[in-house]
Amino acid sequence: MIQTVLDIVAIRKDFPILNRKVNGKPLVYLDNAATSQTPQQVIDTIVDYYSNTNANIHRGVHTLSQEATDAYEQARLKVQKHFNAEKAHEIILTSGTTHSINIVANGFAAILQPGDEIMVSALEHHSNIVPWQMLCERTGAILKVIPMNLEGELVMAEFHKLLSDRTKLVFCNHVSNALGTVNPIEEIIESAHKKGAAVLIDGAQAAPHIKADVQQLDVDFYVVSGHKMCGPTGVGMLYGKEAWLQKLPPYQGGGEMIAEVTFEKTTYADLPHKFEAGTPNICGGIAFGAALDYMNAIGFPAIAAYEDELLQYATEKLLAIEGLKIYGTAKEKTAVVSFNIEGIHPYDIGSILDKLGVAVRTGHHCAQPIMEFFKIPGTVRASFSFYNTKEEVDVLVAAVERARAMLL
Ligand SMILES: *Cc1c(COP(=O)(O)O)cnc(C)c1O
Repeated sequence: MIQTVLDIVAIRKDFPILNRKVNGKPLVYLDNAATSQTPQQVIDTIVDYYSNTNANIHRGVHTLSQEATDAYEQARLKVQKHFNAEKAHEIILTSGTTHSINIVANGFAAILQPGDEIMVSALEHHSNIVPWQMLCERTGAILKVIPMNLEGELVMAEFHKLLSDRTKLVFCNHVSNALGTVNPIEEIIESAHKKGAAVLIDGAQAAPHIKADVQQLDVDFYVVSGHKMCGPTGVGMLYGKEAWLQKLPPYQGGGEMIAEVTFEKTTYADLPHKFEAGTPNICGGIAFGAALDYMNAIGFPAIAAYEDELLQYATEKLLAIEGLKIYGTAKEKTAVVSFNIEGIHPYDIGSILDKLGVAVRTGHHCAQPIMEFFKIPGTVRASFSFYNTKEEVDVLVAAVERARAMLL
């Protein structure tokens, strides 16, 4: 039995979308690793912004512009506090994880020399692979890969062997979106620093479950997307240590990121504006702040504990289905279950689940190297959030059984 301190009935009332039907069935939303749903408190913030405050920021002397600027900068302070960054200007508000990673990858083009090494884990999302491959093409740096084992855990002994004085940067996700593995980032950060390498942690999948403390982690860069933690799409964070953000060149040129512009030379604005060219997603930033307020009011320890119970329950029930295999059996996991049924294509299972109102993800989950490792075309991935219930797990399990019966 699930015993929880969370008031799930009250929490579910905050999410209007959970009341809707899909194909005539109550929606069972289990695609939280792709994007989370939005609570009324965040929706209200968005409506309020466009109804009462909408203006461009940092420029106008008029009241609306000042109010919008204040609200946006207030949101930055909420993000700073949440991730415990030392300074507010170490928080760059971006359009999301992908944007954040590209800012850093672009910046390192000015730092890396041919023959330098950068290291990625075998468990990455494409957005934490492709920008670095592009960086290697530009600089002549060499990409090394930390391998994984059959449980979906990184082989840390190999990591330590690959690490050398040539390693300049290591990047790894905190939690794998495809398998749910929680990676030993503390060990990675500490060992990389001993060799003088910087570390970027992709926290996109961890942030909805684990509150990361960037100072305690001593991480150089930490990146997240707002839309995976109850916020809107199109907003995210790049945390960088001040010294690194000073050192990296800007990614985009434009308004807001300059100190002075002449046709001879432009000087750049101070942090964080140096990396925030153009009009940002003002409303999105403010709503991201509201999302952090919402999740913190529930509390991350309670969220993690409840989701863990859902994970154990779902794992046990799904494994009872004949021919079902779960990929990603790491000891440390968030509430993601990636699975296949022998002899059935994941897409076919996903289609039948959708007919039954159950939303899951099927395919390679933007992590093709992982699928290649397991020699499978993809998986069915059910990913849980704190607003999901044990009853919904039961609906999932019954739907998978039905799909199996229909397809085999
Ligand atoms: C979702 C995700 C990304 C990409 O995030 P975007 O919001 O699409 O930029 C990157 N890495 C991981 C681990 C993810 O889960």
